[in-house]
This record gives sequence, C-alpha cells and structure tokens, in this order.
Amino acid sequence: MLHSILNSLVEEATAFLRRRRDGDVGGDVDPQTIRQALARYDFAEAVDRDALLGEVIKLSEAWTLHSTHPRYFGLFNPPSLPITVAADALVALYNPQVGTWSHAPFAEEVERHVLRYLGARLGYVADGPDPAGDFSAHFTSGGQEANATAIGAALMYRFPELEEGGLRSLPGSPVVYVSRHAHHSFFKACKMTGLGTAALTEVPVDERGAMDARELERHVAADRADGRLPVMVVATLGTTGMGVIDPVKEIARVCEANDMWCHADAAWGGSVLLSERHRGLLDGVQETDSTTWDAHKWLSVPMGAGMFFTRRAAAVTRLYRLQTGYVPSANYEDVVEPYAATAQWSRRFIGLKLFMALAELGQPGYEELLNRQVENGQLLARRLAEEGWDVVNETPLPVVCFRAPGLDADGSRALVRAVVASREAWVSTLRLPDAEPVIRACVTSFDVERDDVEALVEVLGRARAGLARDART
Ligand SMILES: *Cc1c(COP(=O)(O)O)cnc(C)c1O
Repeated sequence: MLHSILNSLVEEATAFLRRRRDGDVGGDVDPQTIRQALARYDFAEAVDRDALLGEVIKLSEAWTLHSTHPRYFGLFNPPSLPITVAADALVALYNPQVGTWSHAPFAEEVERHVLRYLGARLGYVADGPDPAGDFSAHFTSGGQEANATAIGAALMYRFPELEEGGLRSLPGSPVVYVSRHAHHSFFKACKMTGLGTAALTEVPVDERGAMDARELERHVAADRADGRLPVMVVATLGTTGMGVIDPVKEIARVCEANDMWCHADAAWGGSVLLSERHRGLLDGVQETDSTTWDAHKWLSVPMGAGMFFTRRAAAVTRLYRLQTGYVPSANYEDVVEPYAATAQWSRRFIGLKLFMALAELGQPGYEELLNRQVENGQLLARRLAEEGWDVVNETPLPVVCFRAPGLDADGSRALVRAVVASREAWVSTLRLPDAEPVIRACVTSFDVERDDVEALVEVLGRARAGLARDART
C-alpha cells in the first residue's frame, strides 16, 4: 500500500517542481471557497485514496501562497532543499520518539552532532579535548519557542528561587530589553512566562535601525534606580523588517557590567555563520549567553526547525528539569532526556533534515547558496535605485526596503496590492514604528536568479506606472 502511495507521490512531487517556476506565486482566496470544497469531506464514509491524493495536491497548489516560488520575495519562507523532503519523509516513516534518548538513540545523537557543529560556528563550543564546557543546544519548533526559552533561562539563571516560587518570589519586576525593531515573539513570550508585556522595554535605535547601546545603558540604570530588575537584553542579528544587525559586542558589554543575560535573536541572520565570506557580520555573537537560530529560514529545510543554543546549560536545566515515574531513562552519563530538558515532550525528529542537508552540501555548498542570495539582494537594491526607487534600509543581508518618491502610505500599500494581485511576484508592506510604511522585498529562495530579480523590478515598475495612470484619470 505504502509502495503505491509513495510512487504516486514521487510522480506528483517531481511534476510540481518542474512546473513551479512557470506557475504563478499565488494570492488571495476567500475562506468560503475553501470551506465549500472541504464540506464534501464529512468523513461519513471512506473516499478513494488516489482521488484523495490528487485532490489534496490540486487544492494545495491552488490555495497556497507559493512561498517556495523563486519570485516570492517575502518573509524568510524558503523552498525546501530536495534532500530535506526525503529526510522528513523518513522521519514520518520511522516516527522516532525524540522525547527520550532510549527510544531514539540515533536521532538524539544526530541532533547533538549537528548542534555541536553549529555551536562551534557560533563560537560557543571550543575545539579541543573538553569541547563540552557549559554548552547545550536543542531543536525547537521555531524561533518563537527558542526566544521563549531564552527568557525562561535568563530568569532562572538570575533568580534560582523562581523554579519553585515563581515570579511572586521576586523582590521586584523583571525587565527584558529589545530594540524597537525586534521580533514580536518577545511580546508573546513575555505573556506566556507571566512577565506581561509591561516587562518589555523597547530601546531606541540609531538612524540605521540598530539598537543604541548608550540608550540601553541609560534605560538599565534608570530601571535599577527605580527598583526594577533588569534581566535580559536581546540583540537582534538580522531584524525581520530591514535586516539590521544590532551591535552585539557593545550590548554584551552592557550585559556583563549589569549582570544581565545577553540573548542573540539570529533566527534568520544566524545562517551567515556558514559563509566564510560573511560570517564576520555576526562577530560578537560568541560573547552572548544564548542564541536563537532557525534552520527553517535561511538554511532551507522544511518548517518546524528552530534551534536554541546556550553557553549556560545549567539555567536551561533548571528551567525544564523534572522527574517522572514512567519515562525510561538512559544509563549513560552524558546523554540528556529531551522531555526534561526542553519545552516539548513528545517530539518529532527535527534534526535529520538539517543533518542530511549539511552532509550533502557541506559547508562550501551552503556557503555558495548563501553568498548567491546576498549577491542577488545587492543586485536588487542596485537595480531599484537605478529605476528611481528610494531604498531606505542599509544592510549586508538580502532584504531591501524601498518606496517610490512622492508616493504616500496609501500609495505604497496600493502598489504592494497590485504586485500581489499580478501573481507574478510577491512583496509585502513593512510598517516601522513612527514611520510611513515601505515596500519590503527579501531574497528567500536559493533558486532566485538574476532574471527573477529583473522580473520583480519590472513588475514593480508596471504597478507604479499603473498607479500614476489611475491618479491622472
Ligand atoms: C522569524 C523570526 C522569529 C520567529 O521565528 P519562528 O521560527 O517564526 O517562530 C523570531 N525572531 C526573528 C528575528 C525572526 O525573523
């Protein structure tokens, strides 16, 4: 049975990949249309398997925004490297329980192996006879979970009494500092941890949009004087909106001087560490206490692959440790039981896809993909400037924010709508604090070619001309 399903799948998957580039990027559909199609599935009786497979493929293609398309210039949602599709299928086949070492020894060690390699790229794991140090890392569902883990670990590190007593045992209110351009997962994490969003302080940024370390120092001092408890600072290494890299060295120094945890949110940007040419951009990350890094963004593996790294394993242990009477434990000293060391319990084998991609490509192969995307980002910025757009961000990472001179906020929004409606390319609007919205285009696919960049510039030009025509009539 599996044989015939997989055979059909192979046919369908290869056909999809062959036609993807020529298809459109996709766009709007209203929920009613989809609900009507699904209403036929009332589960009262079985349906034919081949028909089902065909229908799911047809509807998925019709009603998915094809973020894997080379002309999707969107939000860090890459196509999956082919080997990672095979990896995820193998994971589904063996379905190892990665919550406990005894059930999935191979999976656990694969993940450990990959995470130590990347930990070394981060500068957290030293080479040599005792490379372990106080390093620990684990796979997460994504950056959201990793960032929430960072907050939990930072709190446990600073206030061990929290493990039992909770926030009510603290002598004051903890404060977490982020830049004004930080990812909003920290708002969610503050609510989930019971800190509340009032615990979050948004530090002003400089003219490029990077956290101002002097402002950070000033805020920390003022909060201290007020009896609040500064706990953690987040340095975003590649902001979601404009690709800005916060001055992580200076931030780490402020943390050191004030006994605060320094967390690097490198969900997207972390991957440049696999590029010898560009890894220097993240210099200073080795001085942080923890890092969030998503494999499902710039490393092009399927979703559900975040990573959390730390140099302070004890704090994470305190955050998640517990004992049960029903999970068998491994009889090896240096293995961890993920269910008692991470936020998840039952967990799928997240690391295999990254292991196989790293093994197949090697660091040089990944470097080539990353460098090419950086070059295409630079090409896009240059071509937009040549065509008379105002490029408003400055970053070495491949994301470009821009506007048409003379076009107001409504105009920019209308322009983005026109591009999306064309289904030929996809870009989005970026709203920044205290600023007019701008248009945002990010190179997220390793399949992007110079022609795709040119095609985007052309679609944008047409949309702009269309707006100008509408304005005259
Ligand atoms: C995407 C992103 C996140 C959230 O990660 P998910 O994997 O989507 O949960 C956090 N921080 C930054 C900087 C991001 O770009």
